[in-house]
Amino acid sequence: MAEAERGSSRLVDRFRLVGGDPALDFLNTRDGRWLPEAEVQEALEEYGDLLRFARRTGLLEEGAISSLEEAARRDAQGAREALRRAREVRERLARILGALVAGEAPDLRDREGFQRDRLDLEAQRRLDFGPEGTTWAWEDPAGLDRPLREVLCRILALLASPLGRLRRCEAPDCDWFFLDRSRNGTRRWCSMETCGNRAKARRHYERGRKTAGGEG
Ligand SMILES: [Zn+2]
Repeated sequence: MAEAERGSSRLVDRFRLVGGDPALDFLNTRDGRWLPEAEVQEALEEYGDLLRFARRTGLLEEGAISSLEEAARRDAQGAREALRRAREVRERLARILGALVAGEAPDLRDREGFQRDRLDLEAQRRLDFGPEGTTWAWEDPAGLDRPLREVLCRILALLASPLGRLRRCEAPDCDWFFLDRSRNGTRRWCSMETCGNRAKARRHYERGRKTAGGEG
């Protein structure tokens, strides 16, 4: 994955890529879901942010991104709608994966919504049969929903494999998703540098208070 875009002030170019898969990083483009709307950190503020995300995470190749930039310039209204759909599907996926991580059944409405997302995806995806083998292709490669569809493909692949390594950060002020690729499968925080160190500092502080005879 590419480093953060140099010099960009946009959140989508700066937020930590810790998911281990662009589909999980996509879910992490909204930070602080439980906070009042004004305090939520939203990295996907405009359609261009979807493309910045796709470039930074390698979700799409440069040629595809240029085509989509052009398509978004031609159809600003369509681009706004594609962004709205991407955010709506992202929140649905976050609720579904959040339930799965917690060992619960996803909400019925979310499950039904997910099936619609999947059917929409399948209507756009086709299998090409070539001499070298089969490849997935898109009916409309420059369709404005392409970044979302690429994410959905990856989510389907994740959901089709055992979910034992899917995690949600255990820090109380973080709910980011990640794949635990640690050898013993004991990673608890999305990032050691931020959430892990905060949790450790808190434990250290609490131990210090206990030794000093402090209360609570
Ligand atoms: Zn975290």
